[in-house]
Amino acid sequence: MTVILDGKKVSAEILAEIKAEVEKLDKKPGLTVVIAGENPASMTYVASKEKRGKELGYNSDVIRLPEDISQSELEKTIDELNQNPDINGILVQMPLPKHLDSDAIIEKICPEKDVDGFHPVNVGKLVTKTNPYAVACTPKGVIELLKRYDIDFAGQNVVIVGRSNIVGKPLAQLFMNLDATVTVAHSKTKNLPEVTRRADILVSAAGREKMITADMVKDGAIVVDVGINRNKEGKLVGDVDYENVKSKTSFITPVPGGVGPMTIAMLMQNTLEMYKKFGC
Ligand code: NAD
Repeated sequence: MTVILDGKKVSAEILAEIKAEVEKLDKKPGLTVVIAGENPASMTYVASKEKRGKELGYNSDVIRLPEDISQSELEKTIDELNQNPDINGILVQMPLPKHLDSDAIIEKICPEKDVDGFHPVNVGKLVTKTNPYAVACTPKGVIELLKRYDIDFAGQNVVIVGRSNIVGKPLAQLFMNLDATVTVAHSKTKNLPEVTRRADILVSAAGREKMITADMVKDGAIVVDVGINRNKEGKLVGDVDYENVKSKTSFITPVPGGVGPMTIAMLMQNTLEMYKKFGC
């Protein structure tokens, strides 16, 4: 029997735990999201982050900057947030307009306020297993979801499809830190089905609809679908051919309602953790 990894339910539990904790605080955690330009998907993400934060009782706000903002003006905004003692978490919504240097912007955020966990200091601390101030929200959400279903990682063969800085790489590191044996596949990987069939835990983060088909999945595998794609009917779908893959798996995430809601819950958790470590 296949168990559905219900990210909607688990994230609601986590958010309720956070809310209960925040209610007891005198000063509220502060989370600021910075967005440049009007990319429709980014605007939706940013609005939902602000809303979630407010629901939890955070001082949650969004700084909306024009598309043509200069690098130095954006860096000045980040500097001000770095200096502001009421702000515990700073998130710059990606992707930034093309003329801006995203890496430099990420490096500008003070690592102790880098709720996304993208700053090289936090990435380095993740790699060296020396308590990063924050771990990237989507990979952290994947691990937390699996843990809440009592899934064990030690010695498991994990295959991750995708090697981005925001999903694949930090997730590989997290699994490694938890004693899994990790393979990272990507667009240049040869014979992908042969690689994915070795997985006890298969994570897809490629952004390709129906890329993971039933023949690529071992019987009884755990399948986590990070992908978010729009199919030709305009519906949100993942990377996994869910209907055909599901019956082969022991556990599987749906899209929507799997990894997506966990990501935002981890953003809220990271903000509270930073508040507790540095902010109050
Ligand atoms: P990306 O484009 O930066 O990286 C995609 C990765 O997939 C690359 O490493 C690439 O080599 C690999 N890839 C692409 N096509 C492949 C193929 N045919 N075979 C093997 N590997 C292939 O994307 P990203 O930012 O890491 O996001 C990946 C997906 O996850 C997207 O659909 C994105 O929308 C989604 N996402 C979801 C959440 C969430 O909260 N659920 C968060 C972040 C990203």
